[in-house]
Amino acid sequence: MSARNILVINCGSSSIKFALVNEARTSFSLQGLAERLGSPEAILHWQLGEDKQTRKMPDANHQAALAFILPLAQEVAGGTLDGIGHRVVHGGENFTSASLVDERVLEGIRSSAQLAPLHNPANLIGIEAAMKLFPGLPQVTVFDTAFHQSMPEYAYRYAVPEYLYKEHGVRRYGFHGTSHRYVSQRAAEMTELPVKDSCWLSAHLGNGSSTCAIVNGESRDTSMGLTPLEGLVMGTRSGDVDPNLHSHLARTLGWNLEQIDNMLNRESGLKGLSGLSNDMRTLSEARAAGHAGATLAFDVFCYRLAKSLAGMACALPRLDGLIFTGGIGENSAAARSRTLQFLGLLHLRIDEEANARCVFGVAGEIQSKDSPRILVIPTNEERQIALDTLALLDT
Ligand code: AMP
Repeated sequence: MSARNILVINCGSSSIKFALVNEARTSFSLQGLAERLGSPEAILHWQLGEDKQTRKMPDANHQAALAFILPLAQEVAGGTLDGIGHRVVHGGENFTSASLVDERVLEGIRSSAQLAPLHNPANLIGIEAAMKLFPGLPQVTVFDTAFHQSMPEYAYRYAVPEYLYKEHGVRRYGFHGTSHRYVSQRAAEMTELPVKDSCWLSAHLGNGSSTCAIVNGESRDTSMGLTPLEGLVMGTRSGDVDPNLHSHLARTLGWNLEQIDNMLNRESGLKGLSGLSNDMRTLSEARAAGHAGATLAFDVFCYRLAKSLAGMACALPRLDGLIFTGGIGENSAAARSRTLQFLGLLHLRIDEEANARCVFGVAGEIQSKDSPRILVIPTNEERQIALDTLALLDT
């Protein structure tokens, strides 16, 4: 049988990210982004090997963009696609693993929409458009939340009245599950430990960031909660704040919920602290030049990350290694080094030479001699979604 091709689709409210994954290759034969969908500026960018192309698609919606992307993917795949894997943000408690799309799955995604009002409806639009365009092709959904459904109840419950959980689904769900799962499996491969007998701390650090404790291939705790706002300092998200901040701002500044929501999700994090940028590259340069806001934002980011990892350690019976991934985790040797300075009590110590080498896609171990393993592993959520899709097609 020749190596199969899966198209992986990630629909946002006005965008579609896509990648064509061949099971025999780690790089993508085709990848791209349609953005500003539904507006006169709608545009599609794609890359075929080294060749980059752009096409203006004024007023194109998700369906129109997919009507262009799907045949393109089919052509690049040599005439046949074997399936489509859709990233879905929130599966609530309905989904513990990837699922072949049918009416029950669509209903499950609809019923979780209240928990992810910006994301799940967009994911549904993508699935329904793809089903209309290619009705004969198997479609699979892979949920960001599914991996964390193995958390014990004492890790996922908030200390609020029970009926809020039972009747309204108020609990911790966690996100980035596909990434934490992928890198922990890669860590087991790299260190030749069986996934089923391995214990990891994982830090996915990108525009959105989260930590996770993974035992024997299962998530036991993670830093994001009901929504992706909980936990670490992120690009523009505050992460944890005192829950009374809402009422404090309402009382003292007269802010309404929308203003507070906007501030915590879009104006906070690295951007709010530095007063400069949400982008770690910009902050690293500014910090090197002595910018006080960038230095503080960097320190708060790393300290809070270290605190979260130390907390996550409570979920582990032992530690086989700490994994860094995501744009910051994979590339910022400085952020890794600063974070490790705060984790001396876990005996984690970095080898600065190895740390400096593991950037721009280079995976490797960066601990010094007497330290538990510290690994840098580039994440590949698209590949994991394609592997999950293929696994379901094989059953
Ligand atoms: P992601 O959401 O995983 O794409 O990660 C985006 C984040 O990674 C942004 O904050 C980028 O500034 C950061 N990033 C990417 N490359 C580097 C780099 N070379 N050094 C520091 N941060 C980086």
